[in-house]
Amino acid sequence: MNPYPQLLHHGGATGVTGSCHRLQISDDRALLVDCGLFQGQDADHVDSFEQYKVNFPVDDVLALVVTHVHIDHIGRLPYLLAAGYRGPILCSVPSARLLPLVIEDALKIGFTRDRALIERFLAEVEGRLAALGYREWHTLVDDDRHRVRVRLQRAGHILGSCYVEVDTLDRESGKVHRTLFSGDLGAPYAPLLPAPKPPWGCDTLVLESTYGDRRHEGRRHRRARLKAAIERLTDVIEEWESIAPDFAKFNAGVETLDAVDMLKFLMEQHGLGIADFPEIGSKSLVSRILNRRGRELTRRHIQALSKRFGVSPALFFG
Ligand SMILES: [Zn+2]
Repeated sequence: MNPYPQLLHHGGATGVTGSCHRLQISDDRALLVDCGLFQGQDADHVDSFEQYKVNFPVDDVLALVVTHVHIDHIGRLPYLLAAGYRGPILCSVPSARLLPLVIEDALKIGFTRDRALIERFLAEVEGRLAALGYREWHTLVDDDRHRVRVRLQRAGHILGSCYVEVDTLDRESGKVHRTLFSGDLGAPYAPLLPAPKPPWGCDTLVLESTYGDRRHEGRRHRRARLKAAIERLTDVIEEWESIAPDFAKFNAGVETLDAVDMLKFLMEQHGLGIADFPEIGSKSLVSRILNRRGRELTRRHIQALSKRFGVSPALFFG
């Protein structure tokens, strides 16, 4: 009886980080899904060198498929290449853009500051990246022994994230098998990401469960909590403005603008617009603060601030 395809885990199985799954198609052919670093509690009981080590064979790996570019899913990539992996790195189009940036950062923090070495390594990674469109089958192998196809579907977790369907056909036995690797899955109604669509079905499901032991708050509740925090911030700013002495005004302006900048970022992140705050007055909190502060700041200060925040100086005058 043909025992393939077979699943093996090089991480992400006894803990929630270090995701690395192997789909063994035959004695001499396999596919890897993710190659992440162990982090947090999972890394505590592994000695620091051991956790980076790629102590599994790489010669038989046809391709590495990356579900998304979080470090617990791609962090061991440098070590995979160091171990001799020379196959393609398959991922979505956005992931292909993001992956070199994340790896560059990981290299700088944990590996080397040598610019030439980093450049060489990134060139190697970029040369192996193959960006795949969502919802289309991509054939990896089609010969007299196997046909292996891969399809990426949106996972709604972070930009470029996907879950992966792998179809294998063993020509000798005629056995067809679909294995699905979930990667990390996001909840629906994210402001920037299309919601994940459930798969039709599969024969084997590899389901990651990082937050599997608790329920996420609904997005509506999260928005309400953010809104309450913003309203509290308004109260604090108003109270503090009334007691701030004159000499502190410039610094006060800078700090307020810092808070406003953070606020704008959070609002964008949560898909909130000015219209979500009608109770704050006819003008938004942001423009009210900027108007008031704008009058207090000199042109020179305003120019420096507008450069720092990347906005037009006109914004500060309201
Ligand atoms: Zn993730």
